[in-house]
Amino acid sequence: MLAMSSNPNEFNKLLAAVKAIATNVAAPEAADVDVRARFPQATVTALQKARVLSAGVPKELGGAGCGMRELALLCAALGQACGSSAMVLAMHYIQVACLARHGLNSDFFRRYLHSLAEHQYLLASMTSENGTFGETRTSICAVERENGRFTLTKDATTGSYCEYADAILVTARRALDAPGSDQVLVLVREGDCKLTQSTSWDTLGMRGTCSPGFRLESSGPEEQILPGSFADASAQTMVPYSHILWSSLWWGITADAVARAAEFVRAGARKNPGTVPPTAIRLAEVSSQLQAMRHNWLNLAGEFDDINARHDGMQQLLAIGWALKMNNLKISASEAAPQIVHRALQIAGIVAYKNDTKFSLGRHYRDVLSASLMISNERIAAKSASMLLVLKDT
Ligand SMILES: Cc1cc2nc3c(=O)[nH]c(=O)nc-3n(C[C@H](O)[C@H](O)[C@H](O)COP(=O)(O)OP(=O)(O)OC[C@H]3O[C@@H](n4cnc5c(N)ncnc54)[C@H](O)[C@@H]3O)c2cc1C
Repeated sequence: MLAMSSNPNEFNKLLAAVKAIATNVAAPEAADVDVRARFPQATVTALQKARVLSAGVPKELGGAGCGMRELALLCAALGQACGSSAMVLAMHYIQVACLARHGLNSDFFRRYLHSLAEHQYLLASMTSENGTFGETRTSICAVERENGRFTLTKDATTGSYCEYADAILVTARRALDAPGSDQVLVLVREGDCKLTQSTSWDTLGMRGTCSPGFRLESSGPEEQILPGSFADASAQTMVPYSHILWSSLWWGITADAVARAAEFVRAGARKNPGTVPPTAIRLAEVSSQLQAMRHNWLNLAGEFDDINARHDGMQQLLAIGWALKMNNLKISASEAAPQIVHRALQIAGIVAYKNDTKFSLGRHYRDVLSASLMISNERIAAKSASMLLVLKDT
């Protein structure tokens, strides 16, 4: 088991760098990224320059060795400036974690992570597939192996920033004769594949993630198939990293919405010194909801780091109780985020409804509406329902 923890000074510098990028680069480009549904290139370049993309790479391989809590704080900081940029960062960290936690027994993946830290590669993900209906634990496409090489073709419904990434982690059946649930993760590098865009990405929100459908045709050395099964990588890494990091950045978006509403209320209060505007009560209510949301992901991120530091931590992450906690976090954070932004909108009113004021909340609102769809809450609730039937209370 690899215990991930960074040097506190190094992490504080990384967090300060992300906060500075959020203020000086991500926030100024956020509206244009949203309007034009374009990739937040300036933000990602700034993150690369500050070596933020290797935050989750182990120290001995050249990264900062950040644990879950630290990565979540970085995503939350960026989410306060631009939801799409923070989602790109979170999705990249999820892929890095899969390699760092399941690939370290492979010389190839150790070397790859070292290069990732050196060159600040950006990793994307392709779990979705035409015909699997949002079920990440099933694949139709399969890896074919011959003479030490693989070939893999996949029709993905959604592939965030695949066009801009240095590599994509792709789920597929282990072999042509394997069942749909016997999956592996394959690292497909930019030079290994041909990507053909199959659908558009003109969405309500998260427009800067640039996530249309793609047909991927790839081939490469067999060593790029991550050792072990995706079933384990999914339960022990992809699901907890996704649900905790997504929740942290959704919180970041809502925190900025509440900050805008708070600024509106304070501006009103300054006009009438000595009085408390009625909107201040609404602000107090929404700030408690915001705090509860933050404590949820922050506590579970800390719990993940604690479990991970134990000798049998990887085993514990396979427990039903832990899977339920992750599902509950995802559902509650994705439901809370639009409610909080909605309440912030009610507080600031028309100036928040307008798209061109300093209190505008349209982008925030549209971005957080993706949260319940990004792995459908209905699908997650159905899985939790089955697990609750067999859970033994401890
Ligand atoms: C911003 C964003 C970025 C994304 N980036 C990527 C990416 O980079 N790579 C990638 O592979 N994918 C990505 N995705 C896709 C994501 O992983 C999911 O695959 C996708 O959101 C699920 O789409 P769906 O609504 O068709 O899902 P489905 O789960 O098929 O849901 C379809 C409908 O069925 C309902 N439903 C499903 N299960 C049940 C049930 N058990 N009971 C009742 N109703 C049910 C749902 O509520 C929904 O209405 C992204 C999605 C978003 C929103």
